[in-house]
Amino acid sequence: MLYKSLKNFKYKVSFKEAVLTGQSPEKGLYFPEKIPVLKKKIIKNISNYDEHHLMMEVIQPFIGNEIPHRELLNIISNTVNFKININNIYDNIYSLELFLGPTMAFKDIGVKFMSGCIKYFCKELELNKNIIILTATSGDTGAAVANAFNKIDGVKVVILYPSSKISILQEKQITTLGNNILALEIKGNFDDCQMLVKKAFSDNQIRENLFITSANSINIARLLSQIFYYFMCYKLLFPIHSHSHSNEKLIISIPSGNFGNICAGLIAFKMGLPVKQFIAATNINDTIPRLLKTGIYNPFPTQETISNAMDISDPSNFSRIMYMFKNVNNIKKLVSAYSFSDKETFEIIKSIWANYKYIMDPHGAIGYLGLKQFLKKKNNTKNIFLSTAAPVKFLDKISKGIDQKISLEKKVIKLLKKEKKSIQLSNKYDTFKKWLLNLD
Ligand SMILES: *Cc1c(COP(=O)(O)O)cnc(C)c1O
Repeated sequence: MLYKSLKNFKYKVSFKEAVLTGQSPEKGLYFPEKIPVLKKKIIKNISNYDEHHLMMEVIQPFIGNEIPHRELLNIISNTVNFKININNIYDNIYSLELFLGPTMAFKDIGVKFMSGCIKYFCKELELNKNIIILTATSGDTGAAVANAFNKIDGVKVVILYPSSKISILQEKQITTLGNNILALEIKGNFDDCQMLVKKAFSDNQIRENLFITSANSINIARLLSQIFYYFMCYKLLFPIHSHSHSNEKLIISIPSGNFGNICAGLIAFKMGLPVKQFIAATNINDTIPRLLKTGIYNPFPTQETISNAMDISDPSNFSRIMYMFKNVNNIKKLVSAYSFSDKETFEIIKSIWANYKYIMDPHGAIGYLGLKQFLKKKNNTKNIFLSTAAPVKFLDKISKGIDQKISLEKKVIKLLKKEKKSIQLSNKYDTFKKWLLNLD
């Protein structure tokens, strides 16, 4: 399978090159040349596949022989080494819980898979210098990256995060591992961090001296691995094969920021997953809901919300969705989009807790709100919203709405006690560059 640059369709690279470089030289996102269709019998007999073999079936056609079967299965079993859970909240409303991994957000899946691929390709390359993973984070990506690349030989990880703008738990996840994980605490906001990383990637002096790559959500390995759990969701809803559900379709609502998660869902649809409707649910950073309404792409300045992992107004993965569907009208046939305020988010967390004793995090709550908005009348479909983070990650934002103390797991208490180690830098590019060039 080759991957083409969405800024120059003639420029095509292997999976390996797409993973190691992140984007094409003219900064185009990579996209598979062709989306493989999954054999019908796999969906029909989905109950016969365990999760690792299901992921293998979904992902292998995208990788071909670039990673041998055994190695790939090994990467997959290291990626999905926790439960993916479906929780029936009431009637036909389900929460697909993707946050049971090591850093308690769905990003563990994409990032761990990517780290497995990079580790494999590095071994093959026999590099004589470290590969440097450079990544800016608003919280969850940094935590997942730190965990996934911890102690991998030949890899150094540099994570830039905005000082005092991420939750305490997120900060501890990034700053307490040590080893090959370097946490840069930047005096500024997330945009500053992203700007520093982007500048470094287009800086020739840096490119000549260091082997840098990125771990952000445009990396194709992250995107591809996320396709899997949409099929997993189907398996969990229909654990036993029966003909009665052979026509049953899903309605899935995805809390969206950079639109990588929903992009993976739309690829799953193109591969043959029976989905009736997707819902893109955002916070007040509502560029895409406005686009679907007006046909005009007009990002406003990013606003801070309690669902901070989705505080993005110019979603980088959207160009992939546009490419797949050609125009906004085609997208609208399959995708509805709604946006919600912090107040609506907080109120629904409170009321779902009061009525069903289920705790939603602010991101999952937006997914739920999107689902409800779409389902004006009762229907007989299976309706799912993706829960993308564990509520405990956003304790300060939600605890007032829950009239019961949320108990902390042992591993969380242990983490909170660990000592933070960060390197504080200003948001000036020259300072950052000098630091980076002295790294290897
Ligand atoms: C990153 C993130 C999102 C948004 O996912 P995208 O793929 O960027 O749309 C939603 N919820 C949580 C908890 C996240 O960390």
